[in-house]
Amino acid sequence: MADVKRKVSILGSTGSIGVNTLDVVARHPSHFEVYALAANSSVDAMLAQCLAFSPRYAVMMDEAAATLLRQRLPVESGIEVKHGESGLADVVTAPEVDVVMAAIVGAAGLPSALAAARAGKTVLLANKESLVMGGHLLMQAVHEGGARLLPIDSEHNAIFQCLPVDDQAKPGHQGVSKVLLTASGGPFRQWSYEQMTEATPDQACAHPNWSMGRKISVDSATLMNKGLEFIEACWIFDLQPERVEVVVHPQSIIHSMVQYLDGSVLAQMGNPDMRTAIAYGLGWPERLASGVAPLDLVTAARLDFEAPDETRFPCLRLARESVAVGGTAMAVCNAANEVAVAAFLDGKIRFTDIAVIIERTLECVNIVEAAKLSVIEEADAQARECAFVFLADLQHPINTLKRV
Ligand code: NAD
Ligand code: MG
Repeated sequence: MADVKRKVSILGSTGSIGVNTLDVVARHPSHFEVYALAANSSVDAMLAQCLAFSPRYAVMMDEAAATLLRQRLPVESGIEVKHGESGLADVVTAPEVDVVMAAIVGAAGLPSALAAARAGKTVLLANKESLVMGGHLLMQAVHEGGARLLPIDSEHNAIFQCLPVDDQAKPGHQGVSKVLLTASGGPFRQWSYEQMTEATPDQACAHPNWSMGRKISVDSATLMNKGLEFIEACWIFDLQPERVEVVVHPQSIIHSMVQYLDGSVLAQMGNPDMRTAIAYGLGWPERLASGVAPLDLVTAARLDFEAPDETRFPCLRLARESVAVGGTAMAVCNAANEVAVAAFLDGKIRFTDIAVIIERTLECVNIVEAAKLSVIEEADAQARECAFVFLADLQHPINTLKRV
């Protein structure tokens, strides 16, 4: 790796991916320097990260949180605090910045990911929702801006690792017949639909293999996470949907595979720990130590596979249908999912209502071509409005839900 330290801006630094990114960065002080940290409103966590990593800038989305952080940071730290969308844009587009880790959760991550791509940065993309909403726009920005997009989602990172190095960023992928996207099946893989109607937020967030933020944990339990990743794979690797297959693999040891025309299937394996994908993105094309324990196949003992069940897990079907419709359907699907997941986490709706809200929203919002950011944002806003109406219909008083 080059002698000059690479300057990194980490968006969503206080979240699960952000914390793991800082863990890897801290292992390589001679390779990386933290230029900026950005988060929504968690001042305590941001203050601790600022003191540990001394970034040049800290950005809080929330203005009041930025004011509080400014007051609490020692003057001698020299850290400048910015806020809002313009603060985020400043720290991703600054000429000194080499690498942007896009790890904000949800639709809120799209503008900054786009800005980083347009500015030609190396974009480590964890925020899958930005590709789901605005895949065409984001991939176009990557090409026009001369950016390099390195997928951090473990499945896409695995696929990227299984492609020939010269071919990783090329469209179409000659020689590849399919990509096989693995799914753990989540905590409810063996639950009946009836059992899932009684699932609590804590049960949904108790992922069997991965430790993640609460939104993506619920997405993993509904299999919407795999649906979003299905869409993400089509965009990143420029593949038609029929060339992406979902395979349930409960152990999460194989993170995904590439099947070639000659019958070969290449798999990337490892313990389920996001620091492997993060280290690969940070070091690419070199390999960096990540702190992840080596895989012991004898302890793992077995690798199982099964087909996904789209009847018990309708979110996967809804994501597939959104890709088939195209245009703003994927943004609508994503926005309805965000509203429904937040309502479920707040105890307002049942787990199984999440898919109902998404399906009704997809039927109600007019789908158009996703040509511009403003069109995508409008579709996102309309979908949220519709989803809130359906949510009000479904909302059960908390005490009628048999919560454990
Ligand atoms: P998280 O909830 O743990 O953290 C989210 C981060 O985003 C926090 O730092 C929060 O402050 C920040 N944030 C939220 N809203 C914001 C806003 N409006 N503006 C600025 N910052 C904002 O989430 P996570 O699990 O780290 O996931 C982050 C992204 O990475 C998601 O898109 C998720 O799908 C993706 N991802 C996560 C994992 C994982 O293992 N956690 C794996 C693959 C992909
Ligand atoms: Mg994933």
